[in-house]
Amino acid sequence: MKVALHACCGPCSTVALRELSQQGHDTAIFFSNSNIHPESEYLRRLDTIEAYASALGIELVADEYVPNRWIDAIGECKERTPERCRRCYRLRFERTADFAANNGFEAIATSLSVSPYQFTQVINEELEAAAERHGLVALPADYREMYQDSVDLSREANMYRQNYCGCMYSMVEAAEERTERRKARKAAKRAAKSAEGGEG
Ligand code: SF4
Repeated sequence: MKVALHACCGPCSTVALRELSQQGHDTAIFFSNSNIHPESEYLRRLDTIEAYASALGIELVADEYVPNRWIDAIGECKERTPERCRRCYRLRFERTADFAANNGFEAIATSLSVSPYQFTQVINEELEAAAERHGLVALPADYREMYQDSVDLSREANMYRQNYCGCMYSMVEAAEERTERRKARKAAKRAAKSAEGGEG
């Protein structure tokens, strides 16, 4: 089938493109990610995936970057909940389905289901709903077991790998999580040292 793949970033697209190709689909990438903050990060992710698509000879179309669309889409859902991400997925899949339906594609898919940090079931529900609204086939997937493949493939391709999902809230949340992990590692080291001291 002729598939429009909503790609969230270069690293996740590696596995999604590989799997769709192995299934015999003719795939083009649609980069629709107005969720990404700030714009410099958006451009960096777009450059990364454009270089990868060009190396593979795959067509890539970039949607307009309109952060206010994302702000309107999530509305009052600013906390880290599945509902916030559902609204974010819905916006990006709706735009992908609209592009696909207007450009002769038969199906839509997404690279988002590579990440173990995403809400896979919500992704697939929203993908199917967007496809149905536009008379397209949805190709839901669960690529989480292939996450390490995406890490390996993106390292091989020398790709930029981001350390947060994309939106302004996820940027802050990811930084807080890294700080917590650092604190926990330090505390564990201190505890191990004092246990050694106690044994001695
Ligand atoms: S965490 Fe990721 S999926 Fe969820 S709202 Fe932010 S950018 Fe969208």
